[in-house]
This record gives sequence, C-alpha cells and structure tokens, in this order.
Amino acid sequence: MTLDPVAPHLAALRAAADEAMARAYAPYSKFHVGAALLTADAQVIAGCNVENAAYPSGICAERGAIAAAVAAGHRRFVAVYISTAAETPTPPCGMCRQVLAEFGLDLAVIARTAAGREARWTLRDLLPAPFTPSQLHA
Ligand code: ZN
Repeated sequence: MTLDPVAPHLAALRAAADEAMARAYAPYSKFHVGAALLTADAQVIAGCNVENAAYPSGICAERGAIAAAVAAGHRRFVAVYISTAAETPTPPCGMCRQVLAEFGLDLAVIARTAAGREARWTLRDLLPAPFTPSQLHA
C-alpha cells in the first residue's frame, strides 16, 4: 500500500484553488483559473490568472502561485491543484509546465472542474522531455 502524500491536503487545496479562481482577473478570456500549491512543509499557496490589456503581459494561475510561493521562501512542492469552470479538467499550459518543472518533475498535478470532475497526472507525465537546470550544466 502506498500512501498518497496529497490526500490529507486535498480539501484545503481545493478550497484555496476555488477561492483564488473566484478572484481571477480574466476580463478578456473569461477563463477563470485558480491554482494552489502544496509545499513540502504542508503550506498551501494560491495564485490566480491575471490578464492584461496587452495580452502577453498576463500570467497564468500556476505561475502566479509559484511566484507567490518562492517569494514566501518555498522551493519544494508536492502538488498543484487547478480549479476552473471548464467542462473538462484543465492541465497547465506549456509555459507553466516548464516553470513548474524547475522545481521537480514528481509534482502531482490535479485539475478539477466546477462540476467536480477531477483528473490527476504527474508533471513528468505532462512534460516527458523536460528542459531542467541540469541541461545548463551538462
Ligand atoms: Zn499557464
């Protein structure tokens, strides 16, 4: 039997991701996203997407959560939980996969719809041939 290190924190992650989703600033896409990171020391840190009139200046919820977590002193993560109102669970975009990969490929990635459909991957599944810090030193 394997213990799932995320399971005891799922409710807190879901609540934080849902709360962040409600605060998303997405006047252009109307695609509201909340992301909550579970740190190695069991803290939950959330982010939401923040769009901008200059479209490429916007940032995704996952990268917003990473920025907030790193600023708070965290660099080790166990999971990221992503809430959207989409019909199907939404995995991170390519840019966010790359940013998350900087901190480890064993990250559990859990996505949930407003209707309660949930999907789960590992970051390694989503980014099978990653560019990692080790490439810079090879
Ligand atoms: Zn993204």
